[in-house]
Amino acid sequence: MSDGNIIDGKAFAAGLRGRVAEKVAALKAEKGVTPGLAVVLVGEDPASQVYVRNKAKQTVECGMEYFEHRLSPETFQEDLLSLVEQLNGDERVHGILVQLPLPKQIDANAVINTIRPEKDVDGFHVVNAGRLMTGAGKPMVPCTPLGCLMLLLDRHGDLSGKNAVVVGRSNIVGKPMAQLLLGANATVTIAHSRTADLPGVCRQADIVIAAVGRPEMVKGDWIKPGATVIDVGINRVESAEEGGKARLVGDVDFAGAAEAAGAITPVPGGVGPMTIACLLANCATAAYRAAGLEDPEL
Ligand code: NAP
Repeated sequence: MSDGNIIDGKAFAAGLRGRVAEKVAALKAEKGVTPGLAVVLVGEDPASQVYVRNKAKQTVECGMEYFEHRLSPETFQEDLLSLVEQLNGDERVHGILVQLPLPKQIDANAVINTIRPEKDVDGFHVVNAGRLMTGAGKPMVPCTPLGCLMLLLDRHGDLSGKNAVVVGRSNIVGKPMAQLLLGANATVTIAHSRTADLPGVCRQADIVIAAVGRPEMVKGDWIKPGATVIDVGINRVESAEEGGKARLVGDVDFAGAAEAAGAITPVPGGVGPMTIACLLANCATAAYRAAGLEDPEL
């Protein structure tokens, strides 16, 4: 396959952030409103610290307000819930994100479902999941699958009638991804750890989305020639070639799959950068809705 068949998520995400910044500036000019994102980080998970730092930087670069709340790993659930309630009532805050995972003493679902659905820029609230599933009302759509859909639409224009296989059924990626593909008129199969003959199921697919959390599990000979492969996985593995230094790999064996695929996302530089860009897009959308405006076209 040629370089043209590599889906450059980094470049697409940069373009999306640029469009978000324009919409943020327009909202300020028209309504005097600056979209605001509040991020809550509980504990000291190293990966979460990196994600939160990147979110802070990109939010400010887009011209939005950024409010960060760092809480100790011992935080009681009721204290976290009252912070969320306070942010729910804060007019400067259009989007609230509580960074996952949360410490053991806190029930993540209770926290997520305390966020007002309109401010739930992660799109994990049951009301947003229900809106996405039923088409009733406007959902906030989870950022990672939204980013995958944007990359697919950019590549194919129309997904009608395509066979899509989503490997993974988490609430964060797999299930909303399947709903979005269904909404785009693809024929969707959701595969998981109990799926029989997973390689055979994947070989039927025009589009394979891998969201499994297992390094390089999806092999090249699982991919139908010419299919599009979207690799959501982010796995840190030790590399023998680089003297045991950690490197990032996806859930797809990139070298093998790239031989067969018509288009494929790399790791890093594929889906990863789209997630934060879509978070910013969701926050801008939340601010437009709060101002009584139509969703911005991004
Ligand atoms: P998760 O909650 O652990 O879900 C993994 C899913 O994969 C489950 O549905 C599981 O099936 C399925 N699975 C596990 N082993 C399997 C196997 N051998 N064969 C078939 N299916 C199998 O993970 P997640 O949160 O969805 O994340 C998935 C991956 O995406 C991870 O690598 C994560 O790091 C990455 N991720 C990336 C981003 C990003 O910004 N790019 C965002 C979120 C997640 P069962 O349900 O049957 O157990």
